[in-house]
Amino acid sequence: MRTVRFFALLAAVTVGLAVTGWQIAKSRTYQTFGELISEVHTESRLVALTFDDGPAPEAVSKLLPVLHEHGVKATFFVTGAELERYPEAAAALVAAGHELGNHSYSHPRMVFISQAKVASEVERTDELIRAAGQLGDIHFRPPHGIKAISLPYFLKKTGRRTVMWSLEPDSGSQIASSSNTITKHVIDNSKPGDIILLHVMYNSRRASLEAVPGIIEGLQLQGFQFVTVSELLAEESSR
Ligand SMILES: [Zn+2]
Repeated sequence: MRTVRFFALLAAVTVGLAVTGWQIAKSRTYQTFGELISEVHTESRLVALTFDDGPAPEAVSKLLPVLHEHGVKATFFVTGAELERYPEAAAALVAAGHELGNHSYSHPRMVFISQAKVASEVERTDELIRAAGQLGDIHFRPPHGIKAISLPYFLKKTGRRTVMWSLEPDSGSQIASSSNTITKHVIDNSKPGDIILLHVMYNSRRASLEAVPGIIEGLQLQGFQFVTVSELLAEESSR
């Protein structure tokens, strides 16, 4: 009887540790190693608009004129695999003054992953980002937002910063089918220093793409200015 109880306790503790580990790995504001940024502390009415995945040429060609028309500089966390497929789309983003960030090569769940595999996912993508013409720092955003131990250890060791987000109007359980819902969520909740995450690259995310003009116009009416992640980070270090 005692043995049964012991094993029941052991199982409960194991499950508890696994759940806690997973919550830490998915946390927007904590990781085991290195610097993690999910927002910037500033009084200035600055926000960063960030787009994950891609670059997909169709979405990029729709987005570029919208950003240009409103004088917005954005940050695109792109994958190496798609950079290789669509180098012109990536080069067009850089040429228009937008920032590229590293979102890994193949968008894997980076859990129980070797240092060699992490290095190849990150470094291969950095090289492609450089080939697209990007200068300056290249920030990293973990695919699926998962930062288990091997990934942050590598990022810290190589002096890279992890950039998460503070507003996610179209993620997880909040996936909205209506662009109005997405726009409203951002307009009602933005504060200075926010990093806004949107997924606009694929056809399944049309509502997000259509939400962009409303988000920009709504926040500009509130006096917000859109800057790249690097510009937002510079704001914090200049305080
Ligand atoms: Zn992603």
